[in-house]
Amino acid sequence: GDDVRPLRERKPPWFKVPAPGGERYRALSALIKDENLNTVCQEAACPNVGECWERGTATFMILGETCTRRCGFCNVTSGKPTWNDPLEPGRVARSIARMQLRHAVITSVDRDDLPDYGAGIWAQTIRAVRRASPRTKVEVLTPDFRGQEMPLAKVLHAQPDVFNHNVEVVPRLYSIARRGSTWERSNRVLRNAKEMAGDAIATKSGLMVGFGESHDEVVDALGTLRSNGVQIITIGQYLRPTERHLPVVRYWHPDEFKAVEEAGYALGFDHIAAGPLVRSSYHADQHVAQDEPG
Ligand code: SF4
Ligand code: SF4
Repeated sequence: GDDVRPLRERKPPWFKVPAPGGERYRALSALIKDENLNTVCQEAACPNVGECWERGTATFMILGETCTRRCGFCNVTSGKPTWNDPLEPGRVARSIARMQLRHAVITSVDRDDLPDYGAGIWAQTIRAVRRASPRTKVEVLTPDFRGQEMPLAKVLHAQPDVFNHNVEVVPRLYSIARRGSTWERSNRVLRNAKEMAGDAIATKSGLMVGFGESHDEVVDALGTLRSNGVQIITIGQYLRPTERHLPVVRYWHPDEFKAVEEAGYALGFDHIAAGPLVRSSYHADQHVAQDEPG
């Protein structure tokens, strides 16, 4: 899960009050309430919701609410999942169709308990969204499927427009922040995805900063991601969800985000979004060509 409700901690002055939503945002809020739809944007109280919905972008979580891993920065519940909802793909597809989204982001908890790590439901969801909303761009933000190629191939075969797998932190911090995952495995997933999908699917990854990493560590991490074929990057400030989570070691200044963004473009990425409030789905619609506006 990438978008989490921040603690009400004192933040530096560049954390401005986010822009309120306009007409489209209000229409979507009303629809969501009427139809009992669920988005990560609302459940995580994401500060970008006004802006994203106005642009026709929203994020949905599939495969339940309990994750089999426990990352030190993440506010999703950990434990043994009990999820069993074979009708979920259709429900998500109907929500996206009702909302008339231009760009739908689908993400999930890690399901290390399932034989295919959830890849079958992933593929069904992508296909259902395609059928119900042929014009909507579909971006998937997936787990690592334990680095195995079969589940990954299943997901890519359903042909999302963007395949995103977040590394989340620089390699040095994996042992503290991402127990149960490894930097090498996440990079292998991204490399395999690019090799399997070729030009048909754009690959994307993202990091949070504020755990004590340096500019150079971030740029080195970007170099590795680029060498594994990644085309799109998001970099945002980590905000501590609760006191049980890893503390914020430092708030990066907007100029520091600019500096890693520039270094990243020099490495040859197609798109980089970097800034204090950037989340992995923030401005996602700008990173892929739209067939037509609206
Ligand atoms: Fe959160 Fe980590 Fe589970 Fe993803 S894998 S939902 S970041 S605990
Ligand atoms: Fe939703 Fe992601 Fe935008 Fe937040 S950044 S409002 S979670 S689409």
